[in-house]
Amino acid sequence: MWRDLLPIGRHEATGGYRRHAWTAADAECRAWFAEQARGRGLRYEVDRNGNQWAWLGDPAAGDAVVTGSHLDSVPDGGAYDGPLGVVSAFAALDALRDAGVSPRRPLAVVNFAEEEGSRFGVACAGSRLMTGALAPESARSLRDADGFVMADAMEGAGIDPSALGRDDERLARIGVYVELHVEQGRCLADIPHAVGVASAIWPHGRWRFDFRGEANHAGTTRLEDRRDPMLGYAAAVLAARESAARAGGLATFGRVRVEPNGTNAIASLVSAWLDCRAPDSAVVDALVEEIAEASEGAEVTRESFTPVVTFDGTLRDRLVGVLGGVPVLPTGAGHDAGILAAAVPTAMLFVRNPTGVSHSPYEHAEERDCLTGASALATVLADLLGAASATSPPPG
Ligand SMILES: [Zn+2]
Repeated sequence: MWRDLLPIGRHEATGGYRRHAWTAADAECRAWFAEQARGRGLRYEVDRNGNQWAWLGDPAAGDAVVTGSHLDSVPDGGAYDGPLGVVSAFAALDALRDAGVSPRRPLAVVNFAEEEGSRFGVACAGSRLMTGALAPESARSLRDADGFVMADAMEGAGIDPSALGRDDERLARIGVYVELHVEQGRCLADIPHAVGVASAIWPHGRWRFDFRGEANHAGTTRLEDRRDPMLGYAAAVLAARESAARAGGLATFGRVRVEPNGTNAIASLVSAWLDCRAPDSAVVDALVEEIAEASEGAEVTRESFTPVVTFDGTLRDRLVGVLGGVPVLPTGAGHDAGILAAAVPTAMLFVRNPTGVSHSPYEHAEERDCLTGASALATVLADLLGAASATSPPPG
C-alpha cells in the first residue's frame, strides 16, 4: 500500500507532496482508496460531503468502529501526515481478518476530504461539513488561489455540491472514531515508546491580515512619501514571535500574498495569514489581539477557529490500558478526530516521529515504528469491536 501511494502527487524538485483537495493528485489518492476497498471486498461509498468509506459489515447496523485519516497534503507536505492513518487502518483490518476475528460491530475505514485546507483555506472541510461545523453555503463559495470555487471543484470530482451539509444519518452510525497519525512533535522521540495516545488538541485558528498601502516606484518615491504595507506586515511577524514566546503559545505567519509583487514596486496590499495556537482559548484571543495591535491598522478577519478538544476520557484510558500503558500526550495540530469529537467518542494514536518535523518533505517515521503503530491500532480495534477470535489462543 505504501509503495503504491508514494509516487502520487510528489513534486520532483522538493520531494514534498502536493495532494491538494479535488486536484488530479487527490483524485489518484481517492482512486487508490476505492481500489483498496474493492480489493478487500469492502462496501465502498462516498458520502454527501465527499468523504470516502470502506465498510466491513453492515453500515446500517450502527455503533460502528471507524478508523482512518486523510490523504490530502499541505503544499510540499510529508508522506506520513494523513496517509499513515489510512494505510494503518487497512493494515489493521487485514490483521484482524488474518487472525480470524469476527467483529460484533461494523468496522469502517474513512478518508476525510480536504483535511489540510491547503486549497480552499478551511482545514478539516470534509469532517466539518459532516458534523455541521462548516455551513454548506460557506463551503460551496470558498475560493482557491486561482479563483475556483469549491462547489465547482467538488462537482468536477463527481460530488454533488448541493447535497453538502450535516449528515445526521451517518453520524448516528458511528459508535467510535479512532485516528492514527504520525506525531507532529517530539514527545515520543526520546522515550522507549513508538506509540502514544492523545489527550487533547490545543485550540487553534487562522486569521487573515490585510495591510493596505499605495503602489509606487521603488526608485523614485521618497521614503517619507511612501505608504508601504510591508512595514506593518513586518511588525506583525515580529510581534507574533514575541507575543507567542511570552504567552507560551504558537503564532505563525507562513503564508503571504503581495500586490503587485514586483521587486521595484512598493506594495499596495499585503495579505498574510496568521496561524495561532495555545493551551487555552483565552491565550489565543490575547495573542491575536496583541499581534493585531502591533500591525499598524491591518484589517483582521478570522477565517476559522477550533476550540480546545479534549478527547473522550473513558476511551483514552481504555486505549492506554489495552496497549499496556503507553504515554498520553497533547498536540497543537488539528485533526478530523478533533472535529468528530464534538459528535462521537473519539481517540487518537500517535506514531513516533524521530525529528518531530511535519508539514515538510523531511517528515519521517521509521518503518518498524509504523508497523508497531498498525499493530497497536489492530489491538485497539479488536478490543473495541468486542471481537471474539475464531482461533483459540495457543496453549500455555
Ligand atoms: Zn494530518
